[in-house]
Amino acid sequence: MRINRKILLAIAGAAFMGVTVSGCKADVDSKPQSAYEEVFAMDTYMTITAYGRESDMAVEAAKKEIYRLDEMLSVSNEASEVYAINSGKEDNVSTDVASLILTSVMMNEKTKGAFDITIYPIMQEWGFTTREYSVPEESVLKELLKNVGKDGIFFDKNKSTIKLKEGVKIDFGAVAKGYTSARIIDIFKKYDVESAIVSLGGNIHTYNCKYDGSKWKIAIENPNKSSEDEYVGVVHVEGKAVVTSGGYERYFIEDGKIYHHIIDPTTGYPSEAGLASVTVISENGAQADALTTALFVMGKERAVDFWNSYGSGDNEIDEFEIVLVDDEGKVIVSDGIEADFESDRDVVVVSR
Ligand code: ADP
Ligand code: MG
Repeated sequence: MRINRKILLAIAGAAFMGVTVSGCKADVDSKPQSAYEEVFAMDTYMTITAYGRESDMAVEAAKKEIYRLDEMLSVSNEASEVYAINSGKEDNVSTDVASLILTSVMMNEKTKGAFDITIYPIMQEWGFTTREYSVPEESVLKELLKNVGKDGIFFDKNKSTIKLKEGVKIDFGAVAKGYTSARIIDIFKKYDVESAIVSLGGNIHTYNCKYDGSKWKIAIENPNKSSEDEYVGVVHVEGKAVVTSGGYERYFIEDGKIYHHIIDPTTGYPSEAGLASVTVISENGAQADALTTALFVMGKERAVDFWNSYGSGDNEIDEFEIVLVDDEGKVIVSDGIEADFESDRDVVVVSR
């Protein structure tokens, strides 16, 4: 179910026609050569679409990159680098893992712990890693929480080595797809790609505008499945990642209660902070991905405060905009994306 909706979304996002004037060079008359691929990796369906003379080669290289990173970053594949790190068998890290650790630790600090890659043992306890779900005892979660926190990661940036404290395990699940989409965009830059869009589950990443010179239109899924509308709105972007996270994406139900896969690292329980979904729009795929998870955990007020403090960028976090959907279906957008956001709903705009 989840997977089909994601595919629909990606195609809808790529197929919309637009007339928005943008910074891209309009070239409406000639549709360039294009290439398209579907991939299943990182536990989700992905699509890659590129336009340009070398689009075939570019898409092929992108596909290879997805498989390479999937194999490297998987927590469950015994041959992966992350698996080796988690089992204490490996202390040398690749440049990809080094970059992911730096981003993750920085985000952990900036979000005051809302984003935390050491949440993995808690994910295991809930059964999210095996799909054998069960609600853990509170005492078990309390015990496991003692090993959650960046202090359990000893990363030597100069030597590119890592050591984890006993009991600590890491999982890049909340940032890997965003990192991957960013790597793909880097690959596209090396080929003669004019325009491209990749959809890795909830992570959309665009390169330039559409080939016709209009902005890409990316639909934001309605997190409330019982209501009619398929989308809460559409954002128009060029050259940006549009990443959405929500509790509706992966969950189980026990005794009538929904338990989803985004965990509040202060409690060990699925975060219930009043938000149904968070969308982040940024040029930085990995950061956008990490931020969606963190802002979801923070809840509406803290998320808006965070955007106030960091949305215009600092020396570590790139500029970003937000679209929040709360549990009542209310939509909150930051003013930097307002002009490029369409919705039938009443929208609250936040400004600095
Ligand atoms: P998705 O990957 O489904 O699009 P996210 O980007 O929000 O959604 O990532 C959720 C995944 O991140 C979880 O499946 C889990 O592996 C991990 N995770 C859960 N809670 C946190 C957290 N607070 N900080 C960092 N990672 C988390
Ligand atoms: Mg994320």
